[in-house]
Amino acid sequence: MGTVVEIRVYDDTAEQYEDTISAAFAEIAAIERLMSPHQPESDVSRLSVADIPVTVSNETLEVLQLAEKVSTASHGAFAATLGRLVNLWGFAEGEAQLPALAAIEAALADVEPAALTFHGNKITKKTATLAIDLGGVAKGYAIDRAIAVLAASGIQHASVNAGGDMRLLGDRAGAPWRIGIQHPRQAGAILASLKLADRAVVTSGDYERFFEQDGVRYHHILDSRTGYPARLCQAVTVVSEQAALADAVATAAFVLGPELGMAFLRETDGVDGLIVAADGSVAVTPGLQELIEWP
Ligand code: AMP
Ligand code: MG
Repeated sequence: MGTVVEIRVYDDTAEQYEDTISAAFAEIAAIERLMSPHQPESDVSRLSVADIPVTVSNETLEVLQLAEKVSTASHGAFAATLGRLVNLWGFAEGEAQLPALAAIEAALADVEPAALTFHGNKITKKTATLAIDLGGVAKGYAIDRAIAVLAASGIQHASVNAGGDMRLLGDRAGAPWRIGIQHPRQAGAILASLKLADRAVVTSGDYERFFEQDGVRYHHILDSRTGYPARLCQAVTVVSEQAALADAVATAAFVLGPELGMAFLRETDGVDGLIVAADGSVAVTPGLQELIEWP
């Protein structure tokens, strides 16, 4: 998933949980094998190249259905069907470059919200050329699965942190966790911190993967209407019980921008969040006000 994952267990007898922690890492690796667009045998790769219905795992089905739900609710701002566009920009390979306009238009040709149909675990694409990318949601899902492994072994206080996207199990031995939100324009600085227990915190930011050309920042969160990086935000942080939901919603709100994105956060059940607009101004949902601390 292109990031470092850290699992922490706070428990008097943490040593006995080494096998469980290994199992949680194995679970994350298993999700990556199912959903990576770079592994030819993954569900996502098989689906992307197929021109016939493809049977996928329950896990991939669950993520595709969540993606579709968030896609519909955000009026297409979140789109798991941007695979060819994501490939074209090349952020995942670390060789990102500004594509030709004609290539961007071609990659957008078959992208639409209701492009997949579901019959049990069998998925049919509306257009054979449509490629899937779950990069905006799969990391959150993997975090949820790792937390589930820890919880099933009786662990009550733990965190799973994948490059700043995380989920907390319980509190930190009696007190809330304090989670720093990365400042989008000051490396290593904290914009604010959150006091949380039993929650996921996921951020979409234009500083995570980007390049600059002629004074313009090109980053990895793409607007399906234009095919170019979404311009209205610097970062969106979403808090929710589930990391998968928070992940997809953060990406969607980023594309929607501060105004529509804030409305989207407010109307989505079970999520709160913080949006840093392109001009650096910050807006917070009501539910987050009492949990947030400014430096
Ligand atoms: P995130 O960091 O969760 O916001 O996800 C960004 C990643 O999701 C990108 O690297 C792409 O793989 C993918 N992606 C980019 N734009 C979109 C979009 N509009 N909807 C869904 N996924 C996207
Ligand atoms: Mg996301």
